[in-house]
Amino acid sequence: MMSDDVPMISRLAPSPTGVLHLGNARSFLINWLYLRSRAGSLLLRIEDIDGPRLKAGATDGLLEDLQWMGLDWDGEPIRQSERMAEYARAANLLLAEGLAYPCTCTRKEIDAAGSAPHEEWQDAAVYPGTCRGRYGSMAEARSESGREPALRLRVDDSALPFQDHFSGSQAGRIRGDFVIQKRDGGPAYQLAVVVDDIASGVNLVVRGHDLLPSTPRQLLLYRHMEKPAPEYLHLPLLVGPDGRRLAKRHGDSSLRMFRQNGVSAAALVGYLASISGLLPAGKECMPEDLLAGFDLALLPRQEQIATGAELLA
Ligand code: GLU
Ligand code: ZN
Repeated sequence: MMSDDVPMISRLAPSPTGVLHLGNARSFLINWLYLRSRAGSLLLRIEDIDGPRLKAGATDGLLEDLQWMGLDWDGEPIRQSERMAEYARAANLLLAEGLAYPCTCTRKEIDAAGSAPHEEWQDAAVYPGTCRGRYGSMAEARSESGREPALRLRVDDSALPFQDHFSGSQAGRIRGDFVIQKRDGGPAYQLAVVVDDIASGVNLVVRGHDLLPSTPRQLLLYRHMEKPAPEYLHLPLLVGPDGRRLAKRHGDSSLRMFRQNGVSAAALVGYLASISGLLPAGKECMPEDLLAGFDLALLPRQEQIATGAELLA
């Protein structure tokens, strides 16, 4: 791990696509405890550029939920929607350096090319490289195809192995050239996250295991942008009784719902702490009460079934 004299900077990076639920709340609590127990700074970044999935008013709700459960952050929240020019600048630089290229393929065409689906995302085919070397410029791509191009990053190394500080050694496979700028000109998640983490000096990323497959792509972007990559800690997800990631299909696990049913913040945080090995079951506490005894090694390594039903009983 990084030496103790480098100040740690991390971030909570919620997407305002709905309400905060138990799974995010657990990851955020661990992130907060990890940073606060080491006197690191913790930023809040609202990832509010994921177009159709955004919900009006969700940002305010998020801030309220975080504060309710006793988490705080340093400085003003950063909003991705205010940083579009930065993402465009980074994408253009990668294009100019020949590291990215215009792609005019539709999802249908990529699927029809018949490549094997990603292991991690069963529904997405690996991009077969159709537009690599196909167009000399964005303008040419536009005029030849009659479509607005996306930008894809060339992936020449198919693996960027890395050490995850919670999940261990990772093969870091990258399957195919990936999109960094969408056809509407907005950044892909991968690019926006890296541009922002660089701009904020983030040197530690704590997040859910679902983002592990994105990490090698992000590492490749750091390499191309010639910036040191952060350290990563990917935490196991909470799952429903069927073993699938906790989601709407398992019922409402939003903080809002627990709150409306009279569950106190201390009861909810106590519950999250107990499933994280930090407290015996049935105890109440606020995040700051957990700081003194916090030890990441206590956190179970496996996915856990946790729906919060005990809180409502
Ligand atoms: N906004 C992303 C999410 O909610 C997290 C991004 C990140 O931590 O890199 O899943
Ligand atoms: Zn293409």
